[in-house]
Amino acid sequence: MCTDVYKLSRYNVHRCSEMRLVLDGLTIGYERPLVSKLTAAFSKPSLIQVLGPNGSGKTTLLRTIAGLIRPLDGRVLVDDDDITGRPDIAGKYISMLPQMTSTVVNAFPMTLWEFLKYSRKLMNNGGSVISDEDIAKALELVDLPRNIWNLNIRKLSGGQRQKAFIARAILSNTPILLLDEPLSSIDPQSKIQISKLITKLSKTRLVIVTTHDPTLLMNATDNILLINNGWYFLGSVSDVMKVEVLKNVYNECVVPVDRCLHIVDAHA
Ligand code: ADP
Repeated sequence: MCTDVYKLSRYNVHRCSEMRLVLDGLTIGYERPLVSKLTAAFSKPSLIQVLGPNGSGKTTLLRTIAGLIRPLDGRVLVDDDDITGRPDIAGKYISMLPQMTSTVVNAFPMTLWEFLKYSRKLMNNGGSVISDEDIAKALELVDLPRNIWNLNIRKLSGGQRQKAFIARAILSNTPILLLDEPLSSIDPQSKIQISKLITKLSKTRLVIVTTHDPTLLMNATDNILLINNGWYFLGSVSDVMKVEVLKNVYNECVVPVDRCLHIVDAHA
């Protein structure tokens, strides 16, 4: 039960230090299940990584949590609120950064500034227009320079677009952030910057992130959810990052490395 209710923000976000996201026997998928009977409870602040090969259901899981897809079975709860298949209610708690496909980018034919100023209305709360001061703060927080604030978002680099969507999630002021592959298709420096940003956000919120590059966020990660072929394994980093566990999903692609340093580099 929530005992520490903060003042309502102007977006009417219910803030509670004990907020819990509960996945209650969740079976997700379409014609067939992608993950079966997933039961988990996550509190804020924390950082959860969802790992699994392409097609294992990571995006489907995030979209199910956000209420955008109905699960085949089970429920999604935030505290006592049942948000299963209810994006209108889920939007009070959850912001989602979608995978940065061209369809997503083309859906917003506007400048970076306009994107942040007006996209709130496109989101679930139908909230009021955000102040210029808040937008400027969010853009500064994600380190997007002033000289691009009036550029069309189609003209931004991949890393800048990811930051723009993260700024939008910050402005939405929800306690839960779902980030779908925020480290994909961006340059190495942006990967580092965005990893740091995600780490920072996870100090005050529940952040659930899917990625094919888990190393960059590993030091800040509380739990890893591994999914594949209907199976899942949830545990701490030390529980999951073991050859015998990872082999269930990645087979011979798991390579133990001693004295490891991860170099983030681009290739031409
Ligand atoms: P991941 O994010 O792990 O790559 P997805 O959740 O995107 O996996 O997709 C999991 C599986 O579900 C894939 O086989 C994909 O083709 C299928 N899928 C995704 N969206 C739909 C949909 N709207 N209808 C039917 N099948 C879908």
